[in-house]
Amino acid sequence: GPAHDAGATANRAAPAYQDPAQPVPARVEDLLGRMTLEDKLGQLAQVDRAALTSPQDIAAYRIGSILSGGGSAPADNTPNGWADMYDGYQSAAQATPLGIPIIYGVDAVHGHNNVRGATIFPHNIGLGATRDAGLVQAVGRATAEEVAGTGIDWTFAPCLCVARNDRWGRTYESFGEQAEIPTAMTSIIGGFQGGNLGEPTSILATAKHYVGDGGTTGGRDQGNTEISEAELRAVHLPPFQAAVAQGVGSIMVSFSSWNGQKLHGHERLLTDVLKGELGFTGFVVSDWAGIDQIDGQRGFTGAEIATAVNAGIDMVMVPTDYRQFLQLLRAEVDAGRIPMPRIDDANRRILTKKFELGLFERRFTDRALTSTVGNQAHRDLARDAVRRSQVLLKNAGGVLPLAKSGGKIFVAGKSADDIGLQSGGWTISWQGSAGNITPGTTILRGIRDAVGSGTTVTYNRDGTGIDSSYRAAIAVVGETPYAEGQGDRTGAMGLDTADLAVLSRLRASGVPVIVVLVSGRPLDIAAQVDGWAALVAAWLPGTEGRGVADVLFGDYNPSGKLPVTWMSGVSQQPINTGDGKPALFPYGFGLSYPGGPTTPSPTPPATTPPPPTTPAQTTPPAQTTPPAPTTRPPAPTTTPPTTPTAGVASCTFRYTVSNQWANGFVAEVRVTAGSAPVSGWTLRFGFPGDQAISNAWNATVTQSGTQVSAANLDWNASVPAGGSIT
Ligand code: BGC
Repeated sequence: GPAHDAGATANRAAPAYQDPAQPVPARVEDLLGRMTLEDKLGQLAQVDRAALTSPQDIAAYRIGSILSGGGSAPADNTPNGWADMYDGYQSAAQATPLGIPIIYGVDAVHGHNNVRGATIFPHNIGLGATRDAGLVQAVGRATAEEVAGTGIDWTFAPCLCVARNDRWGRTYESFGEQAEIPTAMTSIIGGFQGGNLGEPTSILATAKHYVGDGGTTGGRDQGNTEISEAELRAVHLPPFQAAVAQGVGSIMVSFSSWNGQKLHGHERLLTDVLKGELGFTGFVVSDWAGIDQIDGQRGFTGAEIATAVNAGIDMVMVPTDYRQFLQLLRAEVDAGRIPMPRIDDANRRILTKKFELGLFERRFTDRALTSTVGNQAHRDLARDAVRRSQVLLKNAGGVLPLAKSGGKIFVAGKSADDIGLQSGGWTISWQGSAGNITPGTTILRGIRDAVGSGTTVTYNRDGTGIDSSYRAAIAVVGETPYAEGQGDRTGAMGLDTADLAVLSRLRASGVPVIVVLVSGRPLDIAAQVDGWAALVAAWLPGTEGRGVADVLFGDYNPSGKLPVTWMSGVSQQPINTGDGKPALFPYGFGLSYPGGPTTPSPTPPATTPPPPTTPAQTTPPAQTTPPAPTTRPPAPTTTPPTTPTAGVASCTFRYTVSNQWANGFVAEVRVTAGSAPVSGWTLRFGFPGDQAISNAWNATVTQSGTQVSAANLDWNASVPAGGSIT
């Protein structure tokens, strides 16, 4: 009848790209055929939400992707706050003629770690210690559910770096120092992406940072990996081969160079090896302002854009100056320096993933999923991951496991009762921070929950008050949070003086000292370890501290094995080049209690990671001459914007660059009133390169982890009355 005919007409009129019944390649081709040049160029641009002047710019500039870099959380940092933000951006994208959805990326690198209340899993180094690919896949699945619960489509994880030098501040993002562990742990990709990308809780994964990021000379972040092609292929490439075999949807380029040539302009590695030899069909995304570094000068130029895109980068994490980026990109295309087929190829790769993710059909957050963020099932899984990640390194006289009943236990150390410290970097904020930044169970809480009612647990952070009436002292000490850039250690790598003081107070009591080390990497403890009865490497366990107590009290018989060599001194860095002395604890070391380790979880990974294939060695190593070192203007060290602010009695602002980046720097600032710290306030600012110094400070102010003011902040105005910033 007429009604039927009308329906058929409507179906014929609907563009093929909007029809979910059509195969994805047909939808992509149909859409490409309708896109203007502006539409296509916009798909290459990824913008940080903090740099987006208004959501309407998504439509005005046809922006294809938004990210929350290093936190960049919405003011309402709750699961619903994130979902509202996400939906707002998708509405803005819908306002374009073709209504192409954006794809939104975050660093969910150990759980959905930017979101207050999310489950925070152990950082990768701890997951590597579990050697349990099935468990790690389950961690990926739970993370994906939480990410999808806030609408977000894409995580910049897993980091598949093979960390070869503990000096590197991203060592904890590595599953291990030998290719075999990161290769096996690519099982997490199947967890993130689910059975197929179209499932409601599937998110796109990113294998990063391609390639050789963990092998830089001196362990310098964003440095130069000076090794032969054979070593690059044997040590650093296998995890990426496995990731491609697992169907990873995107791959992020490393800031680092290989023998002097920036990966961001490395056509042979990005196009010939990754897309050709390895057969990667997803899209390649650059790292944060990574293309700016190609010519060694600050900021990006048209030439750098052309080099990056022609080398094989499909999406550029601009991430701030998108107007200028799109202008320059357009000029390069108009001048024929970037061929149109390359732009079309990048679009096909990106749009294919958008279709596969179902973004054209399910554009907005499924609020029924939002309650999965931080739910009990995920916290239970995280606790299991924590206990499996613990590595028992020393247990003199079988002091562990501790009896749960009778007597008194003394707990000390800065990391005993601090969710921020046990979570490390990339938690709520980019660098992470101490304190009660998100809900969870501290290690102290876990200990208190583990013991029976007949046992007294006394806690004193600095270790004073202990005497010989206690049966055990547990010292929870280690590193304070850091992330890329700020985490590199160039000098000594021992415990800090406060930790050493706590440990000597405990030792002086004569009570056996059990050390729980909360750190992102092995520390230089050779001078102290003989004085300790037991040592547990807890890594950076995240929010579920009960998992640490499970090991201390024998609810779990430790099974973790070192994913990294534990140095006996800093002269053993980089790893395995040694100083002739044996390591303190070798790679793979880990003790159990009598009776043997608890059987690893039976869950097999859905897809068995393929064994690393022996790479073809046909291509001779590239004979790249390292460029002459570029002289760049030194970053300012003491030039302060010192303008006193209305409403603030005195405002002194001073910063020191502790780690000069090739591309700008950041600083963490504490807010104080007089000399007293104003609790919970943190101001963080950063500027990526020249162009942003004058006009975009991208500062955020948080109180107890909640962002109270957003982008381009007039930070002076946000100092609490009577406060100052030092
Ligand atoms: C880091 C990446 C991260 C990106 C976005 C970069 O600085 O190197 O690992 O995914 O920022 O936050």
